[in-house]
Amino acid sequence: MRRLSFRTKLTLFYAALLAVVMGGAGSLLYRSAAARFDAVINARLTGLCSGLWGYIDFTGGQPVITYDPEQHEILHFVRSGARYYQLYDGEDGRVLAQSDDSALMHLELSPAQVIKSVGSPRFEDVEIRGVPLRFYSALFHYNRHHYLLRVGTVLEEEVSELAELRNILLVLIPVVTIFAALAGWWLAGRVLRPLQALQSAAQAIGITHLDRRLPLRGTNDELDALAQTFNEVFARLETSVGRIKQFTANISHELRTPLVVLQGETEIALMKPGLTEECRQILSSQLEEFDKLRKLTNQLLTLAQADAGQIRLQKEVVDISALACALRDHAEVLAASRGIDLCAKCPAPVAVAGDSSWLERMVLNLLDNAIKFTAPGGRVEIATGSSGAHAYIQVSDTGIGISAESLPHIFDRFYRSDSSRSEVEGAGLGLSLVKWIVEAHGGSIHATSTLGAGSQFTVLLPLSSKASFAAYAAGR
Ligand code: ADP
Repeated sequence: MRRLSFRTKLTLFYAALLAVVMGGAGSLLYRSAAARFDAVINARLTGLCSGLWGYIDFTGGQPVITYDPEQHEILHFVRSGARYYQLYDGEDGRVLAQSDDSALMHLELSPAQVIKSVGSPRFEDVEIRGVPLRFYSALFHYNRHHYLLRVGTVLEEEVSELAELRNILLVLIPVVTIFAALAGWWLAGRVLRPLQALQSAAQAIGITHLDRRLPLRGTNDELDALAQTFNEVFARLETSVGRIKQFTANISHELRTPLVVLQGETEIALMKPGLTEECRQILSSQLEEFDKLRKLTNQLLTLAQADAGQIRLQKEVVDISALACALRDHAEVLAASRGIDLCAKCPAPVAVAGDSSWLERMVLNLLDNAIKFTAPGGRVEIATGSSGAHAYIQVSDTGIGISAESLPHIFDRFYRSDSSRSEVEGAGLGLSLVKWIVEAHGGSIHATSTLGAGSQFTVLLPLSSKASFAAYAAGR
């Protein structure tokens, strides 16, 4: 599973936290508004109920509401209060009186419900034909007889206000969360940008560029301290690697002469008459080993000299097609001895400005690897051509291939993939040298490979100018 980036995690955390806080605050706001509405309605109903009781007249036997219609305030109070009311006999639950609206909407309670309500005053919410109503029932006494007065009020306004508040919150919380998440994403990007800059600067510092340093922003913050620490590590690495390179150069140089002497002496010994077959085999095997050692020390010395900038290229116009064809002929004996078909596709001359001996060394290394890592019966091909401003040399094989894990490391010094380590000779320096030669010529190299099917190495070099190529062709 793909891991989330730090920026995404920060944004998600920030958005989730905000959504939870806003959700909590919204729900608190909604609950407190609902509680406030409740308290206001209940106070209104209890006020209405006790006020209305004051206007009930029992003198005629049948209770009726009496008031002075001239007094507008009282008229308004009774009209709004008396819109939904019922007066019950508290003993048997009979309806004694009720407002016209109450009768019309059949809002009265059954005698059993009345007897149940007599115990304690209570509020109840009902919905009649979609209209929300709240009733309050309270017990009153008159002439040692008790009565239950039930007064109701419509809740429509409060319910719709609460619904409006809820809708606003339901839209506002996600919208604010989305905006906050976008702002958080932007902010996290801004905060992490210096870190990304440090990362790419650190990535650019390879073993061959240890003299580079991470940029300091001069802000004296944690990031600057981190960059400073890394720079100190790079400085120590540069010194150590420098010493190792110097040591490698010295040791390869010192080994060269004794190796040449040993090789020469072994060759002379081999030519001596009267050697037993066993002796001859031992000396031949020694010669092979000396040859390998000599190649290795040569490679090490060359790389050390290249690192120290001591190699000067003798640039001239080189036809890489002619060079490739010549090297194919040179390597054919080796390829044939291993049962490999080696062919060249170099249809037209392609000129580059380069040092022919180093270019030869580069192509030979690639051909050597291709032959080394291809089983008998396989095929190796070298092709040259041009594309745009570049000349290309391509060496392809139908060999063992390189795994996707190994592919990014094959140009590293001393790197050898697990499969080749056990089966094929080598020190893991050939491709490092190839890469150095290509880069010293201003070119680039890349490899593609399929494990078990083969590999392809493509070298791109800048094409030589037409004028110098024409002069070169005329001189041939
Ligand atoms: P070596 O001396 O081991 O050949 P190189 O630097 O030339 O060192 O190559 C490094 C590694 O890259 C090899 O050990 C091998 O694993 C892999 N490699 C190079 N060329 C090929 C190829 N043509 N086919 C398969 N693997 C290759």
